[in-house]
Amino acid sequence: MIRRRGLMLVLSSPSGAGKTSIARALLKQDSQLTMSVSATTRRRRPGEVEGKDYFFMDEAAFKTKINQRYFLEYAEVFDHHYGTPAEVVGKTLEGGHDVLFDIDWQGTQQIKARARQDLVSIFVLPPSTAELERRLLTRAQDTAEVVARRMAKAADEMSHYPEYDYVIINHDLAQSVAAVQTILDAERLRIERQQGLSDFVKQLRDASSN
Ligand code: 5GP
Repeated sequence: MIRRRGLMLVLSSPSGAGKTSIARALLKQDSQLTMSVSATTRRRRPGEVEGKDYFFMDEAAFKTKINQRYFLEYAEVFDHHYGTPAEVVGKTLEGGHDVLFDIDWQGTQQIKARARQDLVSIFVLPPSTAELERRLLTRAQDTAEVVARRMAKAADEMSHYPEYDYVIINHDLAQSVAAVQTILDAERLRIERQQGLSDFVKQLRDASSN
């Protein structure tokens, strides 16, 4: 009888802070959560799968989709475009399921402006700069030049943490996953997300006053 409107759970961080590992673990343990697959104009990295990691497309196709208002949000990150297809998100939320996003601060601000009530945003910080660099280097998917650029960009990214609802310092993956799950469980119980409460309580009250 109580139906729930889904929520949008955004995880942002500088690359290498560990949000991808947190996202993977959450998706594995929480069946009500689905990942939003973004479109991007950047090149596919080894191991990445079309339609699972990203929808890869060229600039012209991306621009057409912008004009068609296909994206819930989009932004330029590291000289490439990234955007969230809107339609699937809307349907998932209406179906009472939650959507997990790995997007940057620009996209988070756009969603905040458009749908604040559905947004729960978490910023993930690395435990230290040295650890951030180590994680970027051991990922070994990018060239040394790209790693250096990403480190430089990280400082800028991290200045946006106050725009988020929650901050997690990722010392330990399991602890961070547990923290995000706690936030998710609590946010699901918000009064605004539970539909049919007034009828339910009315029934409870009617029955108890008989
Ligand atoms: P990467 O190229 O490492 O996969 O992602 C680079 C950055 O782009 C990450 O910080 C990621 O959060 C961000 N990103 C990925 N998809 C989207 C998207 O759809 N929208 C926005 N605004 N940022 C995205």
